[in-house]
Amino acid sequence: MEGKFALVTGGSRGIGREVCLELAEMGFDILVNYQGNKTEADKTVGLVKEKGRQAEAIQFNVAVGAEVEGQLNAWKTANPKATIEVLVNNAGIRKDNLFFWMSDEEWDTVLDVSLRGFYNVTKFIVKDMLSMKRGNIVNVVSLSGIKGMPGQVNYSAAKGAVIAATKSLAQEVGRRGIRVNAVAPGFIATDMTENINEAEFKKMIPLNRFGEAKEVSSVVGFLVSPKAAYITGEVISINGGLYT
Ligand code: NAP
Repeated sequence: MEGKFALVTGGSRGIGREVCLELAEMGFDILVNYQGNKTEADKTVGLVKEKGRQAEAIQFNVAVGAEVEGQLNAWKTANPKATIEVLVNNAGIRKDNLFFWMSDEEWDTVLDVSLRGFYNVTKFIVKDMLSMKRGNIVNVVSLSGIKGMPGQVNYSAAKGAVIAATKSLAQEVGRRGIRVNAVAPGFIATDMTENINEAEFKKMIPLNRFGEAKEVSSVVGFLVSPKAAYITGEVISINGGLYT
């Protein structure tokens, strides 16, 4: 699989890092996207290399189309033989507030990263997947985008929109050998949830704990693998039974 890359947005930390490691174990070389945390991105690169695969950190803000195109075009020029076989749209942020108090900035930035980010990166990558007539896209969405969560109208709207986009795009590109799926985590222990009290919230979760990033990345790995060859347009919940 030399030169067959997976691009993981927000691969520097949390769920994205574990996805990078899972896909490296499956034999992919990894492009680790990050926005600002070069130290953590370089750490992910090192961990992938320890698994014997190539890895490179690539900085861009997924919400800014010109940055996405500029950086990915430069990477393609420098790596003419490499192909991007897998795209994991994982970059995401939350800026919670009650809707009544929500600022334009809180609304816009959360939608820009998740939804516009999905659009910018997927639009660029799917072009080559369409010509190769193969490829796999996995979008990391959320329980919030399925169930809705109070205090997260912005985040729920963004993730719900990406779920709808997953289903639509899967129907557009299936004939060209490209599968598009999503994973919807519940509460997963990462930097994003560090200010959420697990002792209190775990009482609502049938499995009585927060999930681990590895428990999300293993499902991403499954969706990308030939074992999932007949699955597309699907959203798999990983939430400890919190919502079914
Ligand atoms: P995290 O630990 O906060 O990591 C976020 C990652 O996204 C970092 O790698 C960060 O890069 C990157 N990122 C943020 N904004 C970006 C931008 N504009 N452009 C490029 N990269 C950007 O988050 P996480 O918990 O692993 O979450 C990963 C995904 O899972 C997100 O989409 C999140 O919404 C979703 N999710 C998480 C949970 C949970 O409980 N943790 C639940 C459901 C869904 P830097 O390191 O450079 O800042």
